[in-house]
Amino acid sequence: MTGQERSEEKSECVSLSPMMEAVPAPPESERVCVFGTGDLGRSLGLRLLQAGYGVVFGSRRPHSRSSLLPHGAQVLGHAAAAQSAHLIFIAVQREHYDFLVPLANQLKGKVLVDLSNNLRKNQYPEANAEYLQSLVPGAEVVKGFNTLSAWSLQNGPSDANRQVYICGESVEAKQAVIAVAIKLGFSALDRGFLSVARELEDFPLQLFPQWRLPLRIAIGLSAAFFFYLLIRDIIYAYVTQSKDISFRIMVSLANKVCPIVSLIMLSLCYLPGVLASFLQLYRGTKYRRFPDWLDRWMLCRKQLGLLALGFAFLHVLYTLIIPIRYYVRFKATERTVSVIRENRTTEFDTTTAWRGDSYLSLGILGFGLYVLLGITSLPSVSNALSWREFSFIQSKLGHLTLLFCTAHTYLYGWNRFLSSSTYKWYTPPGYMLCLVLPSVVLLLKLLLITPCVDRTITRIRQGWERGADQRNPKDSQPLIP
Ligand code: NAP
Repeated sequence: MTGQERSEEKSECVSLSPMMEAVPAPPESERVCVFGTGDLGRSLGLRLLQAGYGVVFGSRRPHSRSSLLPHGAQVLGHAAAAQSAHLIFIAVQREHYDFLVPLANQLKGKVLVDLSNNLRKNQYPEANAEYLQSLVPGAEVVKGFNTLSAWSLQNGPSDANRQVYICGESVEAKQAVIAVAIKLGFSALDRGFLSVARELEDFPLQLFPQWRLPLRIAIGLSAAFFFYLLIRDIIYAYVTQSKDISFRIMVSLANKVCPIVSLIMLSLCYLPGVLASFLQLYRGTKYRRFPDWLDRWMLCRKQLGLLALGFAFLHVLYTLIIPIRYYVRFKATERTVSVIRENRTTEFDTTTAWRGDSYLSLGILGFGLYVLLGITSLPSVSNALSWREFSFIQSKLGHLTLLFCTAHTYLYGWNRFLSSSTYKWYTPPGYMLCLVLPSVVLLLKLLLITPCVDRTITRIRQGWERGADQRNPKDSQPLIP
C-alpha cells in the first residue's frame, strides 16, 4: 500500500463511530466488501451482518453515511474498502462499472461478485460479468446472487427463493461465493463458466415462461367455447324464438365455459403421460428421447393442472350463487304459483333424485381431489412427500379426479345425449364436446393398466429394451449357472 493510499484510508475512516472503532475488526476471511450503498447493497450488507460477517461498504461518498445503511457496517472509499476484504460484491449498475478501472491494482487477485441485471435481453453485446472481467482482468469475476431481489434479501430466503446461481472461471472463487451463499441460508448451484453469465442475467427478465403455453391454451379454449355457447344458447334463442336471454352471458354462460375448460385442461394434464407410455411401448425402450413437443407439454403439466383447478373453483363459486339469482328465484316462484293456480300435484321422481345427488356428489368428490392435487403441487408440500407419495397423489388420485369429473359431466348430460332437441342447429352442446378428450384419456389409461400392458411398461421403465436380448445374447445369459 502506498503512503497516499494509507492516508486516503485514514481520512475515509472518519465516519466510523467511536463505538465501532472499539469493536475489533473481524479477520479478512470473515470480512466482505460491498461496492454500492443502493437498495441491493444495503439489503445484502444487512444479511451479511446478520450472518456474522464484517461488512465494509465501498462508496463514492464515504463521509456522508446514509442513515439507511445497516448498523455495524463500515463505509470507506472504494480503494480502501477493496483492501479490507478478499470478496467484493459489486452492487452498482453496469453503466458505472468504469469506476473500477482505476482500482485495478487494489482489485488484483480479489473475487468480484457481479450482481447486475439488465432492463431487457441482449441490451449489451456481452454479459455484464464478462464486461466486468474485461475491465479488471486481474480479478476473479463470479456471476451470482442477481436472481434475488433487495426485498427478498432483506426478508430472508423463503421456499420459493432459496436458490442462487453462480458461474465463473475460477473454482476457488466460486467456492468462496458459495460458502457465503450457504451461510446466508441459500442453496447455491454452480452453473459453470462465465460464458453462462448471460443466461443468468436473463433469468430475472423472464415473464412466467412455464405459464405461457398453459395460459394460451386456457385463453384460447375459453374464447372458443364462449363464442360457441353464445351462438348456441343466446343467438339461437333470439333467432328461432325472438327471445332475448342475453343476461345469461354473465352467470349461466360463464358457468358453462369454466367447467368445460377445466375438464379439458385436466385431460391435457394427463394426456402427455399416457402418450409417452404408448411411445415407450411402441419403441420398446425408455432410452430414446421424446419428441420436443411432448417434452415441452410434459414440463407444463403442473401449470395446466393449476389453471384447471382455477376454472373448477370458479365453477364452484358460480354454482353456489345459483339460488340467489333473480332469474332462478323468479322461475321458481312462477312455477310454484302456476302449480297452485292449476291445482296440479307433482310426483316425486326417485330416478331424478338419484341422478341429481350422484351428479352433485361426484362433482364434490372431484373438486375435493382437485384441491388435493393443487395443494400437493406446491413446492413446500411436495418437498415433504416421498416420491412414491407424490406420484400416488398426482398420478393415481389425479386419474381418479379425471374419472369423477368426467362422470359428473356424463350425469349432467344424462338422457339429453339421445334427445334431438339438444342438438341446436345440429351442433352438440359444449359439455358433450368437452367429454371427448377425458374419455379418450381414461380409455387409454385403462388399456395401460391392463396386466399384460402394465407388465411390459413396468419392465421398460426398469431399463428393459425390446430386441436387446437378440442384439447381445450374452446379456440374457444368467450370471450364475
Ligand atoms: P441503486 O439503488 O441505483 O444503487 C446503486 C449504487 O451504485 C448507488 O447507491 C451508488 O452507491 C453506486 N453508484 C451509483 N452511481 C455510481 C457511479 N457512477 N460510480 C460508482 N458507483 C455508483 O441500484 P440497486 O438497486 O442497488 O442495484 C445495484 C445492482 O444490483 C444493479 O446492477 C442491479 O441490476 C443489481 N440488482 C438489483 C436488485 C434489486 O432488487 N435492487 C436485484 C438484483 C440485482 P454509492 O453512492 O454508495 O457510491
